Amino acid sequence: MLTGPNFESDYVELRTTQYGGRSLFAARDTPAGTRVHSSPGPFAHVIYKDYRREVCAQCFAYAASDSAPVKVVQSRVWSIKCNPGGLQASAAWFCSEDCKKTWEKDETGLLQLQLDAALTKALVASRRKGSKSTNTPSFGSADDLTQDAIDQAWKNVQELVASKARLAAFCATIDLEDMELEIARLLVSAIVLRHVSGSNTNGVVDSDSHRNEIQSWIHFLHIQNNELANVRERQHILSAHLRIYAFLCNALPRYLLQYTPTTVREVLARDTGNAFGIWDGDRRDEMLGWGIWISASYFNHSCSPNIRKIRQGRTLYFETSRAVSAGEELCISYVDTDQPVEQRQKDLESSWFFRCGCSRCNTESRA
Ligand SMILES: [Zn+2]
Ligand SMILES: [Zn+2]
Repeated sequence: MLTGPNFESDYVELRTTQYGGRSLFAARDTPAGTRVHSSPGPFAHVIYKDYRREVCAQCFAYAASDSAPVKVVQSRVWSIKCNPGGLQASAAWFCSEDCKKTWEKDETGLLQLQLDAALTKALVASRRKGSKSTNTPSFGSADDLTQDAIDQAWKNVQELVASKARLAAFCATIDLEDMELEIARLLVSAIVLRHVSGSNTNGVVDSDSHRNEIQSWIHFLHIQNNELANVRERQHILSAHLRIYAFLCNALPRYLLQYTPTTVREVLARDTGNAFGIWDGDRRDEMLGWGIWISASYFNHSCSPNIRKIRQGRTLYFETSRAVSAGEELCISYVDTDQPVEQRQKDLESSWFFRCGCSRCNTESRA
């Protein structure tokens, strides 16, 4: 039986394929321009710190995009602010009072903001102590890394964080690069969501299907796990992940620690290969952050896709870009389809861990 989010639409069907795990197929003949699926919000997401004033914390609208009001485009920042602690490091900006209200109604935003400030503080404190290195144990060459070796590395770091003294000593010697801090913030968004939904439902499926899709840890776990492929592809990623984990264990308040081990490892195992960039608009000039939308991650890739993705606020909509027949696989493109075949293949292999065998790739590779 297939597990995962319910695709309640009349247009799509989730099936298992022989080549690419599960995938979505057209349940009926569908004309071009039909919205076949929507994914209401990210399970985990992060807007880069540098863009905080320029991106609405609720709807991700970009102040410098063509569609923003002229006045805002010139200043490039939003002026409506939520600043509970009075600290610049823990403020959120909005494109409208409505967005601010919606955001404030949902307790996750505010909690995340407080934790953001805690992470910054922890990082500043550790930097002040000097003698920095990005020293974590090395794990040999990525090629001979096995699942057992990865499991052992996580076991070792669990033992380390279990001792307060060892954790503090370790964290005094680690520094996070900017990108690693962004990853830590992404993880915090998932931890917060689990905390908030867990205290209501213990992770059990909610009857409201929208909340359910966004919040279900169980559904999240069903999306593809790329841990081994990712660690093998990127030599230093395992050390970085363990460092981020220890940093979070040290920086987060105690009441969140019950969610931290599973959330960190499982989200890191699924981030690469399932996440979507959050862009400034259709032109895709600036990537403002990224997120994981659970049901959206079931769309497979084609270099000549029949589905296009449109983001409106936090929702991702999927729409047919041409007429599609019943039974056809519904595909988006993960990469820039204007690139030559070699580049597309390279990007897909390094970030999505497969060799594209779509008909366009076959034709272009032969030529
Ligand atoms: Zn907004
Ligand atoms: Zn292809």
